[in-house]
Amino acid sequence: MASSSFQPLQGMSDISAPDVAIWQMIEERAREIFARYRFQEIRTPILEKTKLFTHSLGDTTDVVTKEMYSLEDRGGRKLSLRPEGTAGAVRCIASGAEETVNARVYYMGPMFRCERPQAGRKRQFHQIGVEAAGAPNPRADAEVIALQLHLLSAWGLDGAKIRLNTIGLPEDRAAVLEGLREAIRPRLSELPEDAQQRFETNVLRLLDSKDEAVKKLIADAPPVIEFMSADSRAYLETVVETLKSLKIDVEIDPTLVRGLDYYVHTVWEVVHGGLGAQNALSGGGRYRIQIGNKTIDGVGFAMGVERMIAALEANGITAEQFAPKPAIFIVSLGEEALKENMLLAQILRQRGIACEMELTNRKVKAQMKRANKTGAQQVIIRGDTELEKGIFVLKNMEEGTQREVELPELMELL
Ligand code: AMP
Repeated sequence: MASSSFQPLQGMSDISAPDVAIWQMIEERAREIFARYRFQEIRTPILEKTKLFTHSLGDTTDVVTKEMYSLEDRGGRKLSLRPEGTAGAVRCIASGAEETVNARVYYMGPMFRCERPQAGRKRQFHQIGVEAAGAPNPRADAEVIALQLHLLSAWGLDGAKIRLNTIGLPEDRAAVLEGLREAIRPRLSELPEDAQQRFETNVLRLLDSKDEAVKKLIADAPPVIEFMSADSRAYLETVVETLKSLKIDVEIDPTLVRGLDYYVHTVWEVVHGGLGAQNALSGGGRYRIQIGNKTIDGVGFAMGVERMIAALEANGITAEQFAPKPAIFIVSLGEEALKENMLLAQILRQRGIACEMELTNRKVKAQMKRANKTGAQQVIIRGDTELEKGIFVLKNMEEGTQREVELPELMELL
């Protein structure tokens, strides 16, 4: 992309009209749904101590090691732009600024990851997410998944699928790693070199590898849940049963592991066919995060707004359908009429009617052209002559008809 002085940074975008209309629709409907589930908005700083992210997300994860925008401020403090919303929200919950034990919060805003820009991957992108704090409870996980689906349908999205898995508890981890290694070891030589290295350093990551040889081997290996404790397996079963009783279908995907270290028990992803290679709309899961001397348990998800918009567009839902149009456009002819029409516009706006007007004395043709472009349903034309006669010309743009009216009738019509 040309580095013109008018362009934002690579991987970042300006969002303005008409596109912004779909963003506003998404945010408005989300607020409405969140209110029904009694989640409150939380707005945390975009810049935080780097340590917050390295400690909570895990200091070997890709997001933390390769993708954070980090800087030192004038006092030599190490800071980072937030790459995700959970760490900040949980920090705030742990601070006691929100009701700590069972806080139910949502956030909307920009996140930053210095990734290689490509379709579906931006460096500044936006997430809408929720966090429900509280001790592990499979029904809480199911409720949050139900909320997520409710949002998708409020936005009008069809065809999204949920893939669900469990990664168990930290106590399960040793058995899972060992079980997986044992299953893979006899055929390790079939794998490419980097996968063999992964086998040593982070065998779980082999589960969601894109490499064909690895995929084949994983398909033959037992699902990780078989290595977990009976309690962890029962937890997943209750999540699935609860969802079933809420008439929500999920697909259990034993290869789903999410990239961050803080997850326990349930993890899930929402995918959509209209998105191409980067098909994840959202990621979610239950977590246990240590902040200072506190441990916060919770469950949450974050949806990518840019990807949500792409999925909606694939469903034929576009910004155009939500673009606000003025009800009225006012055309003035002559200085005196212009002055009086500004007063008229003020009265209309105070009465809750959206109107726009031309503030110069341009030719009527140019003014009408602009009126047409705004999509106004009606145009009021008042020149000095009409002013003298005490009338208004009211033009219905859809029907192309016009007639003269006096003030009381005009007010009634509008
Ligand atoms: P994550 O925090 O990585 O689980 O991401 C949650 C969701 O945010 C993903 O499912 C995407 O929809 C979105 N997302 C993550 N990274 C990016 C990115 N670089 N550009 C656009 N959307 C992203």
